[in-house]
Amino acid sequence: MESDIHNFHKITIEDRRKIIEKFSDLNEEDIKLMDNYVDKNSFDMIENVYTLMSFPVGIATNFKVNGRDYLIPMSIEEPSVIAACSNGARYARILGGFYAYSTESIMRGEMEIYDIPDIQLAIIKIMTEKNKIIEMANTRSKTLSDLNAGAIDIEIKIINDEIILNLIINVKDAMGANVINTMLEYISPYIEEITNSKTNLRIMSNLTTERITYAYAKFDKNAIGENIVDRIIMANNFAKNDIYRATTHNKGIMNGIDAVLLATLNDFRAEEANAHAYASINGYKPLTEYKKDNNGNLIGSIKIPVAVGTVGGSTKTSRKAQLNMKILGIKNSNEFANILACVGLAQNFAALRALANEGIQKGHMKLHARNIAISAGAKDDAVDKIVNIMLGENNISYSRALELLKGDKNGEL
Ligand code: NAD
Repeated sequence: MESDIHNFHKITIEDRRKIIEKFSDLNEEDIKLMDNYVDKNSFDMIENVYTLMSFPVGIATNFKVNGRDYLIPMSIEEPSVIAACSNGARYARILGGFYAYSTESIMRGEMEIYDIPDIQLAIIKIMTEKNKIIEMANTRSKTLSDLNAGAIDIEIKIINDEIILNLIINVKDAMGANVINTMLEYISPYIEEITNSKTNLRIMSNLTTERITYAYAKFDKNAIGENIVDRIIMANNFAKNDIYRATTHNKGIMNGIDAVLLATLNDFRAEEANAHAYASINGYKPLTEYKKDNNGNLIGSIKIPVAVGTVGGSTKTSRKAQLNMKILGIKNSNEFANILACVGLAQNFAALRALANEGIQKGHMKLHARNIAISAGAKDDAVDKIVNIMLGENNISYSRALELLKGDKNGEL
């Protein structure tokens, strides 16, 4: 089944569920989860819980990545993100969809070593014992060792009179934080012993310069318009030369990525920190790049660090996160990272296309009208009535919604 589902946004929620059910081969239990299911596991996920929040989860359609079709669950409070993402994927699909590749899941754990009597000697001691330290670290994860992964190397940095030991670890399908921190804490007494020093922080780094995803799509010049191709390239150059623009440019990319991470209960703060730090390595820059091919079509690409897990963290605690993973139908963290980078690229392309065209407010306000009507106090049928009038008048504002609501209460609508 293909993911370019015609009019998905116009059909009922029930019909959408039937399509998802078929696309992702869901069973009875999964289908029950789609309803107003209260995930009791969520009460045990964090501390001091007193209630649960409801976040809407929508589906981005049209995605084809490395030749395979995907429906992508996204959870976000902002209207128009899922519409834009689906729209970007629809344009990419015309010339074959997205192509993506992720490197191995290489992460870094950092250990701060201080009170060192002799820095040069301490470094020699650490590097002489490197294999033993790596072996010790790997005793902390039999699973990673069995997967032929785990700690693989040690790098040393000197900052002032401290040594920063970087333990390099292949965490495979995990995000990695717990396993990395556990390994660091386990090896630190031995490091203290051989260097005759003390250790302070022992924690993973959220900047993953060795865990990178590349995604690419070609956008048909005839579908988007040749002048828009030029204007998108111009807009990207603007972002390259202006940090105020680059920040917003990258925020748009993360709109999409965060929404998928939230739907699958991955750590979106980690990914936010990672992406923005990476964007700033050589002065803050946009994470995407655009150019023309020889025929004048637009080539869009993204290079972004993606450190996400398909195992570990809270991904397996929440039944709904598991359902969303099942709908995504991914096999490992590399495939997941590929999807996330493509979502970021689709989101960015759609935003730039709209901005370089009619502007984003027209489409956004149309989708935002419901939120405005509801926040003005409209309920049930009044929401649709007020939205339709505001759209008809092309006057979508809180004050107009309030006026109309007053009219509705007086029986004037
Ligand atoms: P985890 O420890 O829950 O799970 C990882 C474990 O899963 C591995 O140690 C391994 O034993 C097992 N595993 C099974 N199959 C595997 C496979 N195919 N590949 C890899 N591992 C496999 O999770 P984690 O990823 O180590 O930690 C993620 C959690 O840590 C998130 O909840 C995150 O929010 C949190 N956290 C983040 C930070 C940070 O970002 N700085 C710091 C601390 C904690």
